[in-house]
Amino acid sequence: MTPKSIERYARHLVLKEIGGAGQNKLLRAKVAIVGAGGLGGPVALYLAAAGVGHITVIDDDHIERSNLQRQIQFKESDLGASKAEVVTQYLLDQNPEITVRAMKQRLTQENANTLLAGQNLIIDGVDNFQTRFDINNASLSLNTPLISGAVGRWDGQVSAFSGQNPNLPDGPCYQCLVPRPASHLVPQSPQATDNCNTLGIVGALVGIVGTVMALEAIKILVGIGLQTSGQTLMGRLWIYQGLEAKSRTLTLPKDPNCPACSKNPNSA
Ligand SMILES: [Zn+2]
Repeated sequence: MTPKSIERYARHLVLKEIGGAGQNKLLRAKVAIVGAGGLGGPVALYLAAAGVGHITVIDDDHIERSNLQRQIQFKESDLGASKAEVVTQYLLDQNPEITVRAMKQRLTQENANTLLAGQNLIIDGVDNFQTRFDINNASLSLNTPLISGAVGRWDGQVSAFSGQNPNLPDGPCYQCLVPRPASHLVPQSPQATDNCNTLGIVGALVGIVGTVMALEAIKILVGIGLQTSGQTLMGRLWIYQGLEAKSRTLTLPKDPNCPACSKNPNSA
């Protein structure tokens, strides 16, 4: 690390759980963030500031005025621009010591493995079930851990999945948690779904949920608490109810009949 890096990451370096060794792991890490909106924004900002060395931002959307109520990484002057490109520039301005790549593409079943190959961690901040299932399948076939967050109205949730990575404890996948979308939530196309547009959402909630995703990402990348149950959200679901200011954490069972992970050849 250069003297500038040591100064930049000083508050990590003094933490016994991170220190120099942990910071170097962050600097070497490769993370793909799918969705650069409400959840992807805070995740991307905090991971870049933390010194995650190689970040890929995948999003084919353009910035609309109705995004500005909660996607605080965008400004009025960004309207119409590519979300992936604007976020990428924001991250590079914030931390010029890292590399950031914008991919202005919609992740699909066909391109998911290609877009997500070679990453240490995948972040799912998308707003529809079909893309979530495609990301989950890629996580399993690439054995790459996945952090998934979701928000609606006043409520949010976060969980992490091992992607059947042999270095991580075995556990459920995203589709064990959501076996199949409820019929009223089944997207008719990747674009059409029940999301923030129809449910509504309070802006500050995405900051809370996205920041919990970023914190879990740092723990997974550094390797904090992964072998001790109850220290990360790996295989667990954190639920936040904003209106009641309540949160709780559930342990997620692995579904032996899960259509995604029980068929995987790497499955135990
Ligand atoms: Zn599963």
